[in-house]
Amino acid sequence: MTRTSDALDVVVHLLKERLPPPSATCEGSQVDFPGFQRRLKTFTSSRWLAISIDPRHLAAYGWESTSEGLLRCETCGEIWKLVLPDLHSDTGLYSACHKKALEMIEHSAHKPCCLWASCPCLKSFLSLPQTAVDATVTELEVNRLLSSSSAKMLPEVPEICDASLVQDMNDTQIERLEQFKRSFLERYQCEKQVRNAVLLVLSGWRLNEKNNGLMCEYCFRNMDFETLKVLKTGFDAFTAHRPWCSWVMDNTMTSPKCPKGYLLATAELLANKMEPNTTTRDLIGLL
Ligand SMILES: [Zn+2]
Ligand SMILES: [Zn+2]
Repeated sequence: MTRTSDALDVVVHLLKERLPPPSATCEGSQVDFPGFQRRLKTFTSSRWLAISIDPRHLAAYGWESTSEGLLRCETCGEIWKLVLPDLHSDTGLYSACHKKALEMIEHSAHKPCCLWASCPCLKSFLSLPQTAVDATVTELEVNRLLSSSSAKMLPEVPEICDASLVQDMNDTQIERLEQFKRSFLERYQCEKQVRNAVLLVLSGWRLNEKNNGLMCEYCFRNMDFETLKVLKTGFDAFTAHRPWCSWVMDNTMTSPKCPKGYLLATAELLANKMEPNTTTRDLIGLL
């Protein structure tokens, strides 16, 4: 090998070091939902629950949380600490820092060669996929909870959750929801269990047979039945999600914003039980 080709090799090597891995094409990263979920799963420490930046937004721009609570870009490897002043100390300072933080997340905190600055994930990743809120899936999951050997272990869901679910419904919609619950009583006799199962499924909880409990596939919360049994005030199916979970948080990256998952699931369910011409979108407008 000549000295020139040696030098070229070094240049190529250095260029490769600066470039993102070959798999990180713009198209690939934008549509990689498992990759988005993998990064999102790292934002579980209390530090991220307290900060006013949505971890879904961070994951959509390639960031994951390190074990020390720092941000690391999955592709360019940049590491930094996101710090914001106290929200109530100085609102002017806070909003300036918040704006700067968003700009860094989306652009300047990445290395210049990094693709995430120009290719964030699809905005729809911050909403639940249709398969999660589909009316048929809701019915199936309620059946799964009620027919499992753990049906007797289902936690009591407090009345405040009924109130959250029906707060913007009209009388017809409330009656349709009651009809849906009654339809299970032909097969499962315990009215209380049916009510709890319907509320749990419509608010995003699924049976986790492996851990003998409930889980949310979008914020990765797991609750085993033994723990749930000792909850004195019942299981608040809404606040038990992580605050950024798509089941309880709007997707503000879309315009108009996409509603919370439990509203989508309820609207899908009611659309399924109503006239064929009634679309889910019409119902979301009503909710
Ligand atoms: Zn980067
Ligand atoms: Zn969740």
